[in-house]
Amino acid sequence: MAAKIFIDAGHGGPDPGAVGNGVVEEDVNLDVARKLGGILEEAGYEVMLYRTTQDENVLPNKAADLRNRANMANDWGADYFISIHTNASTSPSATGFEQYVYQLGGEAEALAEDIARQFTGRLGSSDRGVFQQNFSVLRNSNMPAVLVELGYLTNPTEALNLNSSAWRSAAARAIADGIAAHVRP
Ligand SMILES: [Zn+2]
Repeated sequence: MAAKIFIDAGHGGPDPGAVGNGVVEEDVNLDVARKLGGILEEAGYEVMLYRTTQDENVLPNKAADLRNRANMANDWGADYFISIHTNASTSPSATGFEQYVYQLGGEAEALAEDIARQFTGRLGSSDRGVFQQNFSVLRNSNMPAVLVELGYLTNPTEALNLNSSAWRSAAARAIADGIAAHVRP
């Protein structure tokens, strides 16, 4: 039985997420999620995406929608939950790769560390670390869950990367390699 990876492209529907420097978060998240899903499927994993288009599955109520993302992963029996997001800050100088888990010290953090090693090694992003956060998708999913923040769209340099299809492909490849370092297909 192949490992089942649920990929949640953050935002979508009525919620574009963060916007700045010509970058729209929901679009970056969706593109990286789709690319990641393709790479993982090719490697032999079972993959489910919450949304494969801007609006697919997204509920108009934000809280209900977040709950729906975790429910879908739970109902499917996912082994791992990966949520893809793009960061924003009031400070344009903020940069780097950051991840969140519901609880430190468990398997989610170990997976996040594997992803961080690949991501920062390949893309040259600074590693801001893995942090505990009480996010709905992390709290309500029954399997190890990691929320990835690819980089800061509020930083002009990182915004150029986030708008680059080639960079997004490399980002998806790095996340896939981090998953592969943690769990075989
Ligand atoms: Zn987000």
